Amino acid sequence: MEKLYYKNQYLKEFSARVLKVEKVNDEYHVVLDKTAFFPGGGGQLCDLGYIDNKKVLKVYENNKTIYHVLDGEVNTGSNVLCSIDWDRREDGMHQHLGQHILSGCFYKLFNANTVSIHLGKEISTVDIVGVLNEEKIREAESFANEVIRNNIDVEFLVPSNEELSSINLRRDLPNTEDEIRVVKIGNLDINACCGVHPSKTSDLKMIKIKKFEKNKGNTRIEFLAGNRAIKDSLNKDNILREICSYLSSNEEEALSGIKNIKALLEEVKIEKKKLEEELLNYEARSLLENNNSNKIIIKNIFKDKSVEYVTKLANRLCERENIVCLFAINNKEKSNIILASSKNIDNLNMGEIFREFSNIVNGKGGGSKNLAQGIAKENNIEEFLNKIYEFCCNRM
Ligand SMILES: [Zn+2]
Repeated sequence: MEKLYYKNQYLKEFSARVLKVEKVNDEYHVVLDKTAFFPGGGGQLCDLGYIDNKKVLKVYENNKTIYHVLDGEVNTGSNVLCSIDWDRREDGMHQHLGQHILSGCFYKLFNANTVSIHLGKEISTVDIVGVLNEEKIREAESFANEVIRNNIDVEFLVPSNEELSSINLRRDLPNTEDEIRVVKIGNLDINACCGVHPSKTSDLKMIKIKKFEKNKGNTRIEFLAGNRAIKDSLNKDNILREICSYLSSNEEEALSGIKNIKALLEEVKIEKKKLEEELLNYEARSLLENNNSNKIIIKNIFKDKSVEYVTKLANRLCERENIVCLFAINNKEKSNIILASSKNIDNLNMGEIFREFSNIVNGKGGGSKNLAQGIAKENNIEEFLNKIYEFCCNRM
């Protein structure tokens, strides 16, 4: 089987003869006399595409034979026209070479080798030995983009065992009896790899390091290469433009604009807290007005108030002795219930009371002796609170 992808990595269409077809379930595993479909390897995904208008679902290598899994049948002995999903392949080659370049740059600049790599559908990672700081990472990123601009040839060598022993590879050789393929990027990097790469670094156009973090004593670097990096950069430019137009500022002033908004927000939050405090005290006083008895049950249904606010109000009132608050917040779909009592009231348990009367409103919730909270699914909360009011009156 001739591996065309190693001879011309830019081959998008080719014709081949079908040597064998095996039907497995509803799929057809097809062997061709030659193929440009890369079966995957070196961290790179396999190619997809079409063979005689049948969709290629997967390509894999088994015992040195490459199988193309199709969703329809082709005839053994026939000549077929094959086309590769080029966007997928090109993207795969770009991420892959991007990883080689980054690995080479970190090694060349800081003598920091690569521990592991992952080429993902959206983002790829390379793990570099040791903990690297932002400055070093940006230096490597800048060097990687210089390598791209310098349009260095990417050579694909198949050295003999003798030659291999004299080549100073960055990493140990894989343990295999198959022929070993070596990727050489000028004098930046030389490493064993079975993947498919572009023939020159300028194909990549750009490498962008998106993020980095410590990972098991090493540094995990997330990167984008080629079109992915360009798309990301254009998208960021759009986002920044929208931010600037929102802030009515230029790019340089955008960050200080956001910081100003944040500072203002903090001031407003403090002011809001103060006002809420005043409102709570005012509302607590007005709910207690006209109540001369020393034991007071306050029943109230609120509208347009948050659960947080009403709970605070109940807690504020119950800071005094001998108070019971039977509160609800009326919403269309479901209402919130807050039952609270002063700490000195021993013969009422708000949690138990809520549970006992909850069937009236199809309620769910509960709580402790002095505070219960819940939700009422039916809107007869007036009746519900009245029943609890009666119950409490008889015991206070
Ligand atoms: Zn490679």
